[in-house]
Amino acid sequence: MRRAVCPGSFDPVTNGHIDIISRASQLFDEVVVAIGVNKSKASARLFSAEERIEMLEKACAEFPNVTVAGFEGLRTTFCEENGIRAIVKGLRAVSDFDYELQMAQMNSSLVDVETIFIPTSPEYSFLASSLVKEVAMFGGDVSALVPPFV
Ligand code: ADP
Repeated sequence: MRRAVCPGSFDPVTNGHIDIISRASQLFDEVVVAIGVNKSKASARLFSAEERIEMLEKACAEFPNVTVAGFEGLRTTFCEENGIRAIVKGLRAVSDFDYELQMAQMNSSLVDVETIFIPTSPEYSFLASSLVKEVAMFGGDVSALVPPFV
């Protein structure tokens, strides 16, 4: 069984996340969407851990081999505890790359894990949870960017 994790804070889940999760689900037997619920970051979030988990569960219901889990602590610990050796991350632009490369190298120095990058679909390359929140807060229409329940 080849298992992968798609980690993130998903505050909130966007159509860009769902695209990456869907594509990962075609490459792996099983995909776990792991939502970071560290309490130290709670004040920086718009949605609670419970809300984010509930939204991801709805968004992933159409993928039979995808499950959703919250995790505290390090992604690498989550991987170790769940016997997962692949971390899937979406790459939007070159600006994502520096940080993601550093993170991938740090993670593989900690545990036996590989990071697999999936290039974003062009229609989602500008899409980020932080921007969706900003647009929504000032009354903009985000209906094409996130699922209806978000
Ligand atoms: P984090 O909390 O790690 O900053 P997010 O919860 O915003 O990240 O997103 C989780 C991961 O989903 C990102 O690290 C990135 O790999 C991927 N991702 C986010 N938005 C997009 C997008 N529009 N297209 C492709 N991948 C994306």
